[in-house]
Amino acid sequence: KELVAFDRVGKMYNNGTVALHSFNLQIRKGEFVTFLGPSGCGKSTALRMAAGLSEPTDGEVTVFGQSPKQTIQETTNVAFVFQEPTLLPWRKVIDNVVLPLELKGVSKKEARSEAQRVLEMVGLTKHLYLYPRQLSGGMQMRVSIARALAAKPKLLLMDEPFAALDEITRQKLQVELLEIWKKEAATILFVTHNVFEAVFLSTKIAVLSSSPGRLTEVIDVNLPSP
Ligand code: ADP
Ligand code: ADP
Repeated sequence: KELVAFDRVGKMYNNGTVALHSFNLQIRKGEFVTFLGPSGCGKSTALRMAAGLSEPTDGEVTVFGQSPKQTIQETTNVAFVFQEPTLLPWRKVIDNVVLPLELKGVSKKEARSEAQRVLEMVGLTKHLYLYPRQLSGGMQMRVSIARALAAKPKLLLMDEPFAALDEITRQKLQVELLEIWKKEAATILFVTHNVFEAVFLSTKIAVLSSSPGRLTEVIDVNLPSP
């Protein structure tokens, strides 16, 4: 059963740029799909559509069988990390990370300790009580990653989340992400332009090409288990 479906999706922005053309992709529960392709081929556009942040101008995107916007409103089981800031400016760093856990019914104490654990992983232990605007763009991105990982969602949408991180932190977070994927049987859509990251993480690689954004092939990643 498809959890995310792109059905002949096209996107032309207001300025005439065609970001996606006749894009078809079905993603089943439990798949870890990376979107791989050169800059400007429409990866972010596709992912933002799955989060209901951008509307197709052609075709249809569904998440859990309905419009992404509706899904996002109805559930706490979807988390995303995008390039644009999505933190709540009136909540401190730790309270941003705690929020989705509390919405899921996790106790205050447990939520705080989990939030502290993931914020330590992204190197922000000293910044727990600052507001997002007091952090650099890169640090805000790391808070978003922490929030998404702490939430342990059923569907996780991540747009080049680790691109700006140092190698050690990136590896830690990749391992954490794989753990969440296995434990929670989560479905993950992940944008990268790093081939190694795509192969290491995913079960499926959707390769896009530009001019205009098209899906060129879908590769099954079947590496033997260690
Ligand atoms: P990628 O994530 O693969 O780099 P994007 O989805 O960000 O690609 O962009 C695909 C194409 O659409 C690019 O040519 C980009 O410049 C253009 N684009 C993206 N967002 C907008 C926008 N809001 N308005 C106009 N053009 C856009
Ligand atoms: P949508 O039709 O999906 O709502 P818009 O065309 O309204 O998208 O643009 C969304 C945002 O992206 C705007 O704030 C715009 O300034 C920004 N944007 C415009 N051009 C680009 C581009 N080439 N690449 C990335 N973002 C862009």
